[in-house]
Amino acid sequence: ATTPTCAETEDNIEGPFYKPGAPERGVLVTPSTKGTHLILTGQVLAAGASCAALGKAEVEIWQADARGGYDNQGYGLRGRVRTDGTGAYRFETVIPGHYLNGPQYRPAHIHVKVHVGGSERLTTQLYFEGDPYNDVDPFIKKALIMKLDDTGSGRAASYDLVVAA
Ligand code: FE
Repeated sequence: ATTPTCAETEDNIEGPFYKPGAPERGVLVTPSTKGTHLILTGQVLAAGASCAALGKAEVEIWQADARGGYDNQGYGLRGRVRTDGTGAYRFETVIPGHYLNGPQYRPAHIHVKVHVGGSERLTTQLYFEGDPYNDVDPFIKKALIMKLDDTGSGRAASYDLVVAA
């Protein structure tokens, strides 16, 4: 018998559109935000045998809007939250659009950073099942593809972020 262990979440490139200083907020949509609403939830967990939930970890996301554009002027669709006592995080956002990387569209993705105790533990990207560009993207890793559930008013995805403790 093997002891179940939590494997560290795969990392992924930061990309060119990260911008430090995002506001602390989980609700990234405003009444004027276009696109399909997405609830993104999960837990931050410690890698290894404990799989301990990490409260007070910081999860930061940034992403393109539904048309594939990043807000590089302001902080639209950028934000960070602290995990609660169960390590849980939650964002309300939209499904990001596709944008060109050279001649090739990137699959929809949400960029993520996790900080624990003030130090950066993970930079990655989360992808969506069924995206037509998943199979041709040079950066995607299969383990980073999320399932999408229909909520009636939008979509929901859940992804646990496992970081070195
Ligand atoms: Fe990107």
